Amino acid sequence: MRSHRIRKTIARLVALALIEAPKILMQVFGHKSIEMTLTYILSDENLRADIEVVSRELRIMRAKEAVEAMMEAEAKGRGSLQFGGYGGPAALALQRAVNQTTKRARESGVDWGASDALELASILTLGGKAWQLVRQGVVCTKFPGTESGPCNKSKGHPEPASCSSLCHHRLEEGFLREDVDASISAAIEGYKSSALSKDFLVQAHWAGQIRTNISRFSDLHNKWMEDPTVREILQGNLQMNWISD
Ligand code: SF4
Repeated sequence: MRSHRIRKTIARLVALALIEAPKILMQVFGHKSIEMTLTYILSDENLRADIEVVSRELRIMRAKEAVEAMMEAEAKGRGSLQFGGYGGPAALALQRAVNQTTKRARESGVDWGASDALELASILTLGGKAWQLVRQGVVCTKFPGTESGPCNKSKGHPEPASCSSLCHHRLEEGFLREDVDASISAAIEGYKSSALSKDFLVQAHWAGQIRTNISRFSDLHNKWMEDPTVREILQGNLQMNWISD
């Protein structure tokens, strides 16, 4: 057992925690922002370099999975979920990037393979610098240092606690779909029952939940827009009966 070996193991563990669950690291250190946590952990230069290498690899692999899912969905065409099952405003931009790259490859008679997906994933993540996981299943695709988002309006690291479902950098992984669907359903029920009991503050809360979740996945948006209560809320026509009482 050597200290060098332990350092490599710690680097992998910290990188995994940073990529998969940054909030846990923040809680362990009692920090309010991920930037504070990073400054604290990364004060050891060698450890920092090892963590950075593993973190970049993990981000690229995450992007490769998204690229491959989108390519597969595009190839299957009808019947497959839009954007390979991914959601969030960034899914459209990502699908466009995948389509353009595969189209260029087709036009030049080149067969698209796994190494091409990896190369595109590396480009999309700036070699693994971008694509931070802000919470489970939610990826911030913002390029650090050059782009800003509504969470903190700065070009530094994103603020996971203030991540907005409307931010155009936000990408959502497909496994969240079921939870989002159930949340919208529960919010509609809550909205209706609070309207009946004239609990208008609670009613406004449920309306906010519906607005937050409705656009997270395109297929769920289409499904729930069939619901008259949802349409009414999105048109800003809340059933606030006390106005007419
Ligand atoms: S609001 Fe946008 S920039 Fe901020 S963490 Fe969320 S996706 Fe990233």
